[in-house]
Amino acid sequence: MLAATPLSACADAPAMSARPGARAADPDLVPRATAGWSAWVASFKGRARSAGIRADVIDAAFRGAGFVPGVVARDRNQTEFRRSFEDYLNIVAPESKVEAGRAAFARQRRALAAIEARYGVPAEIVCAIWGVESNYGQRRGDIPTISAISTLAYDGRRGAFFESQLIAALRILQAGDVAPDRMVGSWAGAMGHTQFIPTSYLQSAVDFDGDGRRDIWGEDPTDALASAASYLAGAGWQRGATWAVEDPSGGLTPDAGGPSFRTGPNFRVIKRYNNSDSYALGVGHLADRIAGGGPLRASFGPDRFGMTKDQRQELQRRLTATGFDTDGTDGVIGPKSRAAIAAFQRSRGLPATGDPSLRLLAMF
Ligand code: CA
Repeated sequence: MLAATPLSACADAPAMSARPGARAADPDLVPRATAGWSAWVASFKGRARSAGIRADVIDAAFRGAGFVPGVVARDRNQTEFRRSFEDYLNIVAPESKVEAGRAAFARQRRALAAIEARYGVPAEIVCAIWGVESNYGQRRGDIPTISAISTLAYDGRRGAFFESQLIAALRILQAGDVAPDRMVGSWAGAMGHTQFIPTSYLQSAVDFDGDGRRDIWGEDPTDALASAASYLAGAGWQRGATWAVEDPSGGLTPDAGGPSFRTGPNFRVIKRYNNSDSYALGVGHLADRIAGGGPLRASFGPDRFGMTKDQRQELQRRLTATGFDTDGTDGVIGPKSRAAIAAFQRSRGLPATGDPSLRLLAMF
């Protein structure tokens, strides 16, 4: 949540929220105690003590921690590139995630109902946030949080921000909610089922199942789901009010020529989780679908390359069938599809732009 970085997590997903799925097999994501990082940590420890963190907590937190090169690489690779709303929806709310969301909702029906009763946030909204943030708990991230955040505090573009997150992470450990080796998450420090950064956790996490710990990391999502509802309630969620409804005369149209929406009071509340119109519309739409609603009624027009989703999918199918693998045919032209297009262009002696086009589609 509150993606620590504007895009953050979703390296392969939404352009606006950051939730990187960690890959333990990637050697660049293994912490190592470099000289520069170690010197920074030695100095930071004094500031942590001054902030009220006990020495034994600090020592346990940094045991085995280190600099994570892959975290810096991801932080620097964030581009200002902005996905279309259509692409964003195809990533966060395709039919497969609607179906998975309905199944997850059914499994957690009792917990979600109790959470809605206490916080007033609809069960399907909480479930949709769970889906967008971690694919219903399947992408919680496994990068050690102390290592990730200390790397960004030491070497990142926003050192002060991440140092405050690091202090907050130590407060969580000091409270005994989680053991240091279980405190893991995204490369940007977002943790657990609902991808809370440490300061949001301190502000909003709750022990809903009553076992004495606020556990957003474990298999059982109950505390995390309640914590998300607690966060939204604290941000001003209005019981019974809408987030947005599709309305051809509505004032919000992220993609020219695409669906329009009339927003309600809870739209800005969802944006407190991630400050993006696409995020709030994606969460709200996924929630409507989980609750049994249908797809958006309006269609999207051609994209900036003049292509519709059907045409992009056809291009992906033809490229893949010809040996230029696009890694799926979802109609979203991401890095894999662009690489496949560039390879195809090179094979035909064309400039390797990686851009899709109708001309390219006609060459098969
Ligand atoms: Ca608990």
